[in-house]
Amino acid sequence: MDALISNIGHRGTVRPAWCAVDYHDEPHPEDRRCESEVVPVPTVMLFRFRSQVTGRIEQVADVADFSIVATQWAGDAEVWVRIGGDAQRIEVTLESARRLHRTLGVFLADNFG
Ligand SMILES: [Zn+2]
Repeated sequence: MDALISNIGHRGTVRPAWCAVDYHDEPHPEDRRCESEVVPVPTVMLFRFRSQVTGRIEQVADVADFSIVATQWAGDAEVWVRIGGDAQRIEVTLESARRLHRTLGVFLADNFG
């Protein structure tokens, strides 16, 4: 029964295995999408800015509530992977996410063991 409901929600298409949240029947068609589970990634970010008071470059590290989530909008063949939080984020194709993953892995291994 769940599979049947899911298929109706996906307008006759097959529900992807990664789809975890039901946004398929949103009232506004532009809001309809498949969305994965949201995976939190606690992150510390660097902020550098010129102080209005001292005129010097200041540096602050602060916690950012980053997460990773995949989205496929209705009618869009592309799956988008979003990494980030409310203020900063990148949203890239699935292929680009895989390339970033591979490249970051190699970069960290080569430079930091
Ligand atoms: Zn879905």
